[in-house]
Amino acid sequence: MRWKSAKLPRQVPFMNLNVNEIFYSLQGEGGRQGEASIFIRLTCCNLSCDFCDTDFETGQNMSLEEILSEISPYHCRWIIWTGGEPTLQLTDEVLLFFKSKGYKQAIESNGLKPLSGLLDYTVCSPKGDNLAAVKRINPKVNEIRLPVKSKDKLPEIQELPEADYYFLSPVFTSNFQITTENINYCVKLIKENPEWRLSVQLHKLINIP
Ligand code: SF4
Repeated sequence: MRWKSAKLPRQVPFMNLNVNEIFYSLQGEGGRQGEASIFIRLTCCNLSCDFCDTDFETGQNMSLEEILSEISPYHCRWIIWTGGEPTLQLTDEVLLFFKSKGYKQAIESNGLKPLSGLLDYTVCSPKGDNLAAVKRINPKVNEIRLPVKSKDKLPEIQELPEADYYFLSPVFTSNFQITTENINYCVKLIKENPEWRLSVQLHKLINIP
């Protein structure tokens, strides 16, 4: 994995966002698993993880009003900002705009940029050997979610930001298949370290976005 310098797409006017996709589904993992949520995936990331299963490179430039008009028909007032790495584009002005329209906002971040206090739920999913940096940048979050493959070393809780929940998420194969090896390894780790909980990516198991 590389920590790369993140370049945003050019020609994104102030208060516009470069959006990879918007979809309405259920949160498939972690502490809000099963809750209806509107996912807004922003382009760009500041990491290159070898197990990344997300297409976030391409997107379209959208104004906040255009995004609002796309999401307002959904019977849901929870947005999940995801990516890529959504903090590369999200500003407090953007968060305040959607807050003023009655939305609660969660984020799924790798934790390498500060998470705004305007967010209603923060998920930090540190990758690789960036734990010290993540803890320094974001000392407290709602949820830590670690993707885990068999034989990965489990960090000490003290190395991570303080959180309400600590989840281990078994990594799926590149074609979205669950691997018994990774599941069994996570179960073993949790039995040995019960401050952690299991989070299996339900959306992949039940084939929803
Ligand atoms: S931080 Fe997330 S989105 Fe970015 S490369 Fe890693 S897995 Fe993919």
